[in-house]
Amino acid sequence: MMTAMQALKEKINNYCVTDKNNTLPDGRKIFERPLIGIVPASDPLFDAYREEAVIGPAFNPPAFWLPDAVSVISYFLPFQMHVRSSNYGGPPPSLEWLHSRFLGESFNEKLRRFIVDQIESAGGKAVAPLLNRSYRSDYKVFSSNWSERHVAYAAGLGSFGLHRGLITEKGVAGRFGSVITNLMLEATSRPAGSYYQNCPFLVDGSCGVCISRCPAGAISESGKDKSKCYHYMFIEDHMKIERDQFGYAHSACGKCQVDVPCEDCIP
Ligand code: SF4
Ligand code: SF4
Repeated sequence: MMTAMQALKEKINNYCVTDKNNTLPDGRKIFERPLIGIVPASDPLFDAYREEAVIGPAFNPPAFWLPDAVSVISYFLPFQMHVRSSNYGGPPPSLEWLHSRFLGESFNEKLRRFIVDQIESAGGKAVAPLLNRSYRSDYKVFSSNWSERHVAYAAGLGSFGLHRGLITEKGVAGRFGSVITNLMLEATSRPAGSYYQNCPFLVDGSCGVCISRCPAGAISESGKDKSKCYHYMFIEDHMKIERDQFGYAHSACGKCQVDVPCEDCIP
């Protein structure tokens, strides 16, 4: 007999395969099927994330969003191979990557809503923090009150790389999402024993390919300089003509997520 979580996973998978919003203007799919993890809302990591050295006190734990929160569903939507390979050249980023960044996140918003609807129609309560009016993200000070990547780490989907992306078994190139619910769902395991286990550079100093992939010089042996990355995408804005044409809010890049050993697997 199928558990509630197995049934929900099947619906999420079907949604990703069949929904027309998971497509580029030329009709090709943006995302593969997602990886899905569950973490209890009471997991101590959510308190640890409020420490200055991790995210900081701006981070709001699950109970802030849903007072009777019990479980958090986290998922990773891996970009299709044609999206990833389109961005191997350059800079600038490929037009396909730019579309996938914005049309992909638009699909991701619909997927969050779909999961909330599924839980509510099963009699539960659910909140997707990124769709909630309390959600705050300030690119200029690099602070937000919910982090899809940190939630994905808590749910066992992967661990962080030198480029600060989350390296999952399907790699790093894609988008993350999450939904908090009051339903008791079976937690998945957290195979990564540390925040950085899946990145060879952060384990034994090998790899480091993302350093030379970054056109902004934002990645070094000491990690990622978020202000340089921000400046490259938001101020230098190398795709202004194209993004204006399609109404996208800012430019894109993603060179550190493709043509690197962690693009689509754990190196
Ligand atoms: S490219 Fe190599 S060093 Fe950079 S995050 Fe990926 S695995 Fe780590
Ligand atoms: S997104 Fe681009 S600019 Fe930002 S760190 Fe990655 S490669 Fe560098």
